[in-house]
Amino acid sequence: MPCLFCKIINKEIPADIVYEDDKFLIFKDVNPKAPLHLLIIPKKHIPSLDHLEIQDKGLIGELFLTAQNIAREKGVSKTGYKLLFNVGKGGGQVIDHLHLHLLGGWKNEEERSNLKTF
Ligand code: AMP
Ligand code: ZN
Repeated sequence: MPCLFCKIINKEIPADIVYEDDKFLIFKDVNPKAPLHLLIIPKKHIPSLDHLEIQDKGLIGELFLTAQNIAREKGVSKTGYKLLFNVGKGGGQVIDHLHLHLLGGWKNEEERSNLKTF
């Protein structure tokens, strides 16, 4: 039974996709916690950061470079942003497919300080 994010990768359920290549998909979080809230996921199904294996080290490096690229493209690299993994249920992870949250686009510190969920 494919996970929700694998279904998004396979276009079985819709998402607001902002970037795609052979290894990664980036789409808007359906319940955004910041003016810009993207989820950056590998197409390979890895349940969480805790499940990373040594052979995934290249993939995880590329994941961060992909985050850097989309942050530049979306115009938040100058204003700043947060990158975050929730790891495991106790860490707040709800979807068991590795995903990097990219949060940014706040107008000022006050708006950023309204970020309560993370
Ligand atoms: P986490 O709590 O780290 O597992 O984050 C899962 C994120 O996925 C949450 O921020 C949800 O709002 C988001 N989410 C859940 N379902 C969808 C969906 N169908 N499309 C886009 N984002 C989703
Ligand atoms: Zn998956």
